[in-house]
Amino acid sequence: MPTLVMKFGGTSVATLDRIKRAAKRIGVEVARGYDVIVIVSAMSGKTNELVGWVEEVSPLFDAREYDAIVSSGENVTAGLMALTLQEMGVEARSWQGWQVPLLTTSAHAAARINEIPTDNLNGKFADGMRVAVVAGFQGISPEGRITTLGRGGSDTTAVAFAAAFKAERCDIYTDVDGVYTTDPRIEDKARKLDRIAYEEMLELASLGAKVLQTRSVELAMRYRVKLRVLSSFDEQDENSGTLVCAEEEIVESNVVAGVACQRDEAKMTLVSVADRPGIAAAIFVPLSEAGVNVDMIVQNISEDGRTDMTFSCPVDQVARAEKAMDEAKQSGEINFHDLIADTDVAKVSVVGIGMRSHAGVAAKMFEVLSNEGINIKVITTSEIKISVLVDRKYMELAVQALHDAFELDKAP
Ligand code: ASP
Ligand code: MG
Repeated sequence: MPTLVMKFGGTSVATLDRIKRAAKRIGVEVARGYDVIVIVSAMSGKTNELVGWVEEVSPLFDAREYDAIVSSGENVTAGLMALTLQEMGVEARSWQGWQVPLLTTSAHAAARINEIPTDNLNGKFADGMRVAVVAGFQGISPEGRITTLGRGGSDTTAVAFAAAFKAERCDIYTDVDGVYTTDPRIEDKARKLDRIAYEEMLELASLGAKVLQTRSVELAMRYRVKLRVLSSFDEQDENSGTLVCAEEEIVESNVVAGVACQRDEAKMTLVSVADRPGIAAAIFVPLSEAGVNVDMIVQNISEDGRTDMTFSCPVDQVARAEKAMDEAKQSGEINFHDLIADTDVAKVSVVGIGMRSHAGVAAKMFEVLSNEGINIKVITTSEIKISVLVDRKYMELAVQALHDAFELDKAP
């Protein structure tokens, strides 16, 4: 029988009633003839509560115990879902990560999946089990300890199962009905996309469209898993939601697929650093070692052997970045006159695979922002993305103006 993976996020299993509702959706797919692997998240709010308890008991917690504790939310939902399905007369069984087993690295709280052997579950499917309910977000390390995959990790669990079991599709049930051209809370003309390419979704996911964990999209792209994002609250049919798929499967699309934004960015400028071989490494190695997620980087032209280096990072990492730079200065590895932090910026990006073959997207973007009187502070581009830093107070305006100018409210 063909296999389908269905993942239900925290809001979709937040109460016993919602679990029942999700179970009915699962029953529909079982009736259609699928063997179903269901991946569940913890009930919404549960993981945050568990993390809170960990931090209260031990601020510098042992990550192995963190994983033992925060993985438990998913165990409860998996058992409840299996029971609910059994009550409906569906042959279902729950599985914790270690039972499958889902084998991971030992990087506690941020483990990566090594392998999912399929014999165990396939044996049970052959014996008549119709639904395996698997606790998302967790696995087991080579040392035999429970691991977790990082916040939002159940999406990655779901895609990994779909790849390992060669599922026909991986349906991600959530509280939104798909992927939008931009955040509907910012632009009310935002339109749900029927299809989006992996590459575009990857950019949008990492740019702060919080529908899917970025790693789950990477994995889906690598193994060509068809991902569908859909709402567990609406009635669904074959064409509901948004399909994340290979670009060959998208017949028509706009040049720009979406506008993404990230509110809490900071722009840091090292003023007057020596322009010599190795200077970039001397700056960015310590930043990376300090755990600063540097995003955009711009090096200015040099004058009299000195230059300015500008980079962006999340605003809550500014203090860490300053400390790392001060230490590098003390130790004599770098030398700069000043470190200026602008903590009132946001990043706005346009994304679309159509940019590969269409010139003029950047020019149009800059023109639109200029017409709104919005100053651009930093620009970076990739093959399918253009990002700018602007003053945070103009972020919404920039998103709306770009959404309008690229006519994203209109279907291609
Ligand atoms: N429950 C975990 C979290 O809240 C994993 C997930 O839901 O994807 O991060
Ligand atoms: Mg999630």
